[in-house]
Parts: sequence; structure tokens; C-alpha cells
Amino acid sequence: MSFPIHEQFQSFQGEGYHSGRAAYFIRTYGCPVHCPWCDSAGTWHPDHKPESLNRLEAATLAVAAANSKAEFTVITGGEPAIHDLRTLTDALHTHAQPVHLETSGGFPLQGDFDWITLSPKRWHPPLAENIARAQEIKIIVDAPEAIEEYVQLLGGQLRYNVSVWLHPEWSKRSDPAVLNAITKWVKTHRAPFRAGVQIHKYFAADTLDSRSADPVPLGGDPAGGPSV
Ligand code: SF4
Repeated sequence: MSFPIHEQFQSFQGEGYHSGRAAYFIRTYGCPVHCPWCDSAGTWHPDHKPESLNRLEAATLAVAAANSKAEFTVITGGEPAIHDLRTLTDALHTHAQPVHLETSGGFPLQGDFDWITLSPKRWHPPLAENIARAQEIKIIVDAPEAIEEYVQLLGGQLRYNVSVWLHPEWSKRSDPAVLNAITKWVKTHRAPFRAGVQIHKYFAADTLDSRSADPVPLGGDPAGGPSV
């Protein structure tokens, strides 16, 4: 089975529990969620549609991941869960690659995943079954009040041992109001909440692999600012 692939590259995981670990990234094409500050808008924005789209077989992707020095493979997007990922996760496991998934959680998951990072979007809420399966949750804080909104959205499904990372949205990474809101929330609420940041962007780690796609502006809109 083949998949529409925006890019694949080796880097390190820059977010969450596995931060700093060597990882292979497979970024699928397509996402119907359309976040205004999306840092991978090249996967869906009509102004950045590629002239041709690579469709790659699961086995081809798995061999590339296995030939890297990565400790695990991250399937990300776009929104990878719009695809049936079972043949891809099976192929990666055949090559002894642990499989991590990054998803907004708004679509049924199809595949065998060793780690699920759920990054909810309040304009396209996650399915309860996906919140229950997640090993960690990543909230992109685009405004101080967003934290409270997401906590309400996630309702009673937060668990003490499933970290909830609070990351400033990239264009707000120096915004004192957003940073102070994260700091105050973590100090007040403690676990499962943790402050975080996208450390791979400070290293420009992804772009060092020539197979990575050219970055497009946040949300696909030049007014959004650069995504790296
Ligand atoms: S941030 Fe994720 S969910 Fe939002 S538009 Fe981008 S790829 Fe889709």
C-alpha cells in the first residue's frame, strides 16, 4: 500500500517525553484541520501545493527508516490519521522500528503504535477514544486563555501519569503573556502539566537533512511568520 508523502528525514525528536532522541520522521500529506499557525502547512495549504506528490510504498518507507540511525520513527503530518496506517506500522515493526504517532486525535486511528502524542485542536476536538490511548498530550498555547479552554475540552480524561505539555505556539515563543500563562499554570497545577518548547527549531535540526521539504510560513500565510 502506498502513502502520499510530503517529506521524510532524520533528525531528533524536539518535543515531549522523547525530546533529544534520534528519530526518523515520515510526514504524510493532507490535513483537513487547517490550523492558522500550522508549522507544516506545506502539507495542506492550497498556495503551497507541490507540483507532484510522492506516493511511496510502506516497505520503501520502512527500509529508509531502518537504514537511518534513528531510535524510532515518528509518523506525523499533516494529519496522518486520515490514512489507514496499518501496512506502514506493520512494515516499520518488521524492521524493528518502534513507531510513534503525532496526531490531532480528531480521526479514528488505524495502526499499531508504540507511542501516541495527541495534540488537540479546539476547532476540531479529539475523539475520546484517542485521548484515552495517548501516552502524552501536547497543547499549543496560542493565547493565554487557550490553556483553560483545552483543559475544559479534554474534560475528565486527564491522567496524572500522562504528561500534558504546554508549548508556546512558535510565533508566540517570546510573547510574555503566553510564557507567563504557561509558567503560572504549571506552578499552580503541577502534574500532569509540564512546560515545553520545540527545541529542534533552535537547532534547525530538521532542515539539516536535504530530504526535508522547504519550510513554508506558519499557517501557509506570509503574515504568520517563518515556521522555523
Ligand atoms: S498543526 Fe497539525 S492539525 Fe493543525 S493544520 Fe497543521 S498538520 Fe493539521
